[in-house]
Amino acid sequence: MKAFDIIIIGGGPIGIACALEAKKKNLNYLIIEKGCIANSLFNYPVNMQFFSTSEKLEIDNIPFISKENKPRRAEALEYYRRIVTSNDLNIHLFEKVESLSKADGSFRIGTTKGDYTAENVIVATGFYDIPNKINIPGEELPKVSHYYKDPHYYASQKVAVVGASNSAVDAALECYRKGAEVTMIVRGPEIGRRVKYWVRPDIENRIAEGSVKAYFNTQLSEVRENELVITTPEGKKVIENDYVLALTGYEPNFNFLRKIGVQLSDDEKLLPQYDEETMESNVPNLYLAGVICGGMETHKWFIENSRIHAKIIIDAILQKEHA
Ligand SMILES: Cc1cc2nc3c(=O)[nH]c(=O)nc-3n(C[C@H](O)[C@H](O)[C@H](O)COP(=O)(O)OP(=O)(O)OC[C@H]3O[C@@H](n4cnc5c(N)ncnc54)[C@H](O)[C@@H]3O)c2cc1C
Repeated sequence: MKAFDIIIIGGGPIGIACALEAKKKNLNYLIIEKGCIANSLFNYPVNMQFFSTSEKLEIDNIPFISKENKPRRAEALEYYRRIVTSNDLNIHLFEKVESLSKADGSFRIGTTKGDYTAENVIVATGFYDIPNKINIPGEELPKVSHYYKDPHYYASQKVAVVGASNSAVDAALECYRKGAEVTMIVRGPEIGRRVKYWVRPDIENRIAEGSVKAYFNTQLSEVRENELVITTPEGKKVIENDYVLALTGYEPNFNFLRKIGVQLSDDEKLLPQYDEETMESNVPNLYLAGVICGGMETHKWFIENSRIHAKIIIDAILQKEHA
């Protein structure tokens, strides 16, 4: 069984930042990533543009050069991939961590490919793997997707976009511009307040002119093969439909956190317990990094403000070692 000072679960931007910091401090580390490098970013919409400017997405002060000031998904993938390969970071890809337990003061980590031991574990598993389900009849039909990738697929189709956040608005606008007949189904009274300020007028104007249809204060109640049932303030309505993009957000893998002993707050936020000074969770020597720290508040942490977790954690680990 291979032994490490640190095992980092998750090879997203923050897991990679932790590995860089560990390497700088000559610690024996390994990233275990269940998909490809920066797997969540890889699964974002192909044309996605970050709301952050590129320097805010930099890790370890390595320059991130992008064509526009706000980079695109492809540029971010290139940036994080080059960091991993150029720095020869120790990473195992397409290997999923399935169990974690403590024995004789060390962690035992079981994956789809083997077992490891480590003195410290950093959980940087993000929130993009588990979509928030609507829990309605028909949601399991193949025409319903909780991830949006490429507008080309939806050309000349009747597409319903559920949600009013950045992802939903981007998908609605892109599909409309590729010739889809787009209907937005929005639970609240307006387009989300966090929608990128330069995108908001575009969607509001498309809705106002009728190019994109929008039902506000409306719930999707049922998905059928060729139609949807929606509940509007005026009552139930049946509309024709080919595809549903249910972009209603994502949540961290709380079952995994519970299984490894991390305590979650009792309220609906399900905030994992950790010390803000060190990022150490209630499980000694188990640290949390990146967006997972926000529990259900998935907007609280992002790359910009969580990249500092890497240095905080590695400093805390070294301080403990020297204590
Ligand atoms: C559409 C969209 C746009 C965004 N735009 C911005 C922006 O402009 N600026 C910004 O700062 N942030 C932005 N964010 C947020 C940011 O992309 C994420 O916060 C970022 O990916 C978080 O990095 P992370 O390393 O914490 O998590 P992730 O990037 O999600 O990485 C977690 C990794 O863990 C892996 N993993 C999960 N479970 C396991 C397991 N059991 N075993 C092994 N590996 C596992 C996953 O495959 C994944 O690669 C955006 C998010 C979305 C969804």
